[in-house]
Order: sequence, then structure tokens, then C-alpha cells
Amino acid sequence: MNMNKNDISQLSWPENQLLPAIVQHAISGKVLMQGYMNPLALTQTLNSKKVTFYSRSKARLWTKGESSGHTLDLVSLDIDCDADSILVLAIPNGPTCHVGTESCWHDNSANSPQLAFLYELEQVIQSREGAEPSSSYTASLFAKGVKRIAQKVGEEGVESALAAMAGDKAELANEAADLIFHLLVLLRSQQLELNDVVRVLQQRHNTAKT
Ligand code: AMP
Ligand code: ZN
Ligand code: ZN
Ligand code: ZN
Repeated sequence: MNMNKNDISQLSWPENQLLPAIVQHAISGKVLMQGYMNPLALTQTLNSKKVTFYSRSKARLWTKGESSGHTLDLVSLDIDCDADSILVLAIPNGPTCHVGTESCWHDNSANSPQLAFLYELEQVIQSREGAEPSSSYTASLFAKGVKRIAQKVGEEGVESALAAMAGDKAELANEAADLIFHLLVLLRSQQLELNDVVRVLQQRHNTAKT
């Protein structure tokens, strides 16, 4: 949270008191939607931690998800260089667009920072947990259990190392892909997310800086 209630009056509010607010997925970085906030909407967002806009069509405060349940949980807020645009990082509960897509920019291939694919892959892996083992390789891995998954991570780690030692870049990329995929499955089998690992890396980075 890079902003608090005392900062609201510092924003460069126009005559109509509306500033654009862009909502980004706090983990994947995908842009989810854009709305407008007035000072009250911003205050309510900070107080309730549920992203709230001023709806020009409804002409009232509008908490995203108030009827659909597809709310946006506030993670952090930031304002731009000249204080006339609000950036909101949030975790969505369900699709953000009213047509049922994750983002209001519907073309997933155009609206996907490349590393967000790891997050998408993680969701796919999660959806395979408990599925019929014959229905997919990932489902069959989960069915075999942690021992088999851990063994695959070990194998793919060794294969990655060997590919690097052989100087085979294409092979290394392939084996690293195998490693990352199996590592995501292993993490999931232990109720961990990539985000938990990233947090550890961030903490180390922050410690190293001070
Ligand atoms: P909700 O806030 O999700 O309960 O949706 C209530 C109404 O707000 C919908 O029927 C739409 O008219 C509108 N709405 C919902 N989500 C969006 C969005 N991402 N962008 C613009 N309008 C939306
Ligand atoms: Zn600006
Ligand atoms: Zn939409
Ligand atoms: Zn391999």
C-alpha cells in the first residue's frame, strides 16, 4: 500500500472529481479493468479493501462485485507522476468483466505479460488435482503421489544440469521447462504456490539490500 487516506487530498482531482483507476492482477500483472474513482470511492476502497468505483452510468458509488460477487480484493494502490491516475493492484474473486472473462480486455493472447503464463499454468495444474488419472498426464501424476512427483523433479533437475554441461541450449530450455512444470506440480501437491516461493526470493532480495 503506497497510499493512505491522508494522500487523497493531494491527488489532482479535476472539476468532475473523477480520476481513472486501472486495476491490475496483483500476481500475474494482467490488466483487468478500468473505472473511475472520486474521493469517496477511493476512501471506501481503502477502508473496505474492496475496490470501489464511482459509476458514471449508475451515478453512485459502485463496489465491483456488489451483485455478481466477483469482487476485487485490494492489495495496493499507487498514483502516477502527476497525481491524476490511480493504479490498483488487486486479487479478483472470479471473472472481472461482466461478460465473464478474466479481464475486460478479452483477447487473452494480447493481454498477457509473458511471465503471467506461469500463473496460468499453475491454475491449469490446480484444476487437474483430483481429476480422473487417465484424463491427463498431470492428473495421473497427482494420483501417483508426492514420491513420484518428487522423483520427476529430481530427474528433470539432473537432465537440466546435464544439458547445460553438454552446452546444448535447446535441450537445456526443454529440460528446464520439464523441471519448472514438475516443480509446480510438486508445490501444488504440498499446498504451496509459486507466489510463496517468489515471496521468499523477494524477502532475500530485500534483506540483501539493507
Ligand atoms: P458487479 O459489480 O460485478 O456486481 O456487476 C454489476 C454491474 O456492473 C454489471 O451488470 C455491469 O453492468 C457492471 N459491470 C460489472 N463489471 C464490470 C466491468 N468490469 N466493467 C464495466 N462494467 C462492469
Ligand atoms: Zn498522470
Ligand atoms: Zn468488462
Ligand atoms: Zn526432461
